[in-house]
Amino acid sequence: MKIICYGVIKMEESRIKNWAQKNNVEVKIVHADLCVENAELAKGFDGVSSEGNLPVGASVYEKFRQYGIKQLAIRQVGVDNQDLAAAKKNGIKITNVAAYSPRAIAELGVTDAMYLLRKIGIYQDRMAHGDFTYDESTISTEIFNCTVGIIGAGHIGGASAQLYSALGAKVLACDPVYDASLEPYVTYTNLDTIFAEADIISLHTPLLPSTKNIINKTAISKMKKKPILINVARGGLVDTQALIAALKNGQISAAALDTLAAETDFYNKKDMLNSLPEDYKELKAMPQVLITPHIAFFTKLAVKNSIEIALNDAKTIISGGEVKSVVNL
Ligand code: NAD
Repeated sequence: MKIICYGVIKMEESRIKNWAQKNNVEVKIVHADLCVENAELAKGFDGVSSEGNLPVGASVYEKFRQYGIKQLAIRQVGVDNQDLAAAKKNGIKITNVAAYSPRAIAELGVTDAMYLLRKIGIYQDRMAHGDFTYDESTISTEIFNCTVGIIGAGHIGGASAQLYSALGAKVLACDPVYDASLEPYVTYTNLDTIFAEADIISLHTPLLPSTKNIINKTAISKMKKKPILINVARGGLVDTQALIAALKNGQISAAALDTLAAETDFYNKKDMLNSLPEDYKELKAMPQVLITPHIAFFTKLAVKNSIEIALNDAKTIISGGEVKSVVNL
């Protein structure tokens, strides 16, 4: 069996090779993300795995179909860069890794929230200018006196809820799908109640037409507590211009952004200082904003699991078996 893996980062290489050896599968490693220009490299392979955020559409799946390939195993959760219907039309089963380590992402979100709650960015900025003072504008609140609103209480939202609950916060959650196992940690409610009551709002929905810009001008106008916004999900969930305006006028007191709407231009690239988009520069200049380069997933356990689960699924489908992780049935 031969599988081609696209979008492989350095840290994955040895783990992919170990999996290949253990499973007696020949694996070709391609560092570039899968796209129409390099889809032809898959000719002669039985299966494909990929990771990354570049849009992948019909022209790639058509090529795979011509090569007799029947699956594409994504080594990540988000499949918003894939055209699921076009893949299905071409007989390509797309699988994702729904839960390689929900705690990895949840823990970054909570870390960010604590950093912003204690105004560390603002103090760092002051100290960089020789100012070691504190005042009414930088007074903080203990986390156990905060209400946290989780939007999207799935794997990662649920793990975040558990962590905030363990720290003593009151946790509200909003999700069209009810999960009884979260009852010890959350009070289910609606979006407007979260906007009205939460001191910290944490986003954990996938990027869908229904969730795109879920945090927009109207949503922000309903926020009553000048909340901290945490986005470790997808940049497209937030209307960036509306967020910048809200950070400037204080409707949102602080924000942590692991993902940004325009990130495909600079994601995992070096020497980008001169070509960053204006909205990125504006956010980066604010001491109450914490930006990380889409690394919430990046832990040892998550990297190991995303490779092993994705490649095991690829192998099963290629061998004629069925897996539960197909996202375009
Ligand atoms: P999940 O599918 O387990 O949970 C998503 C939840 O969102 C589901 O329970 C779903 O019902 C809910 N949802 C959908 N539409 C909603 C809406 N309009 N309002 C409220 N809830 C809604 O997914 P997950 O594993 O928790 O991941 C969530 C997202 O996190 C992923 O889709 C991905 O975009 C992102 N993610 C980011 C990183 C990172 O490194 N920053 C890593 C992994 C995942």
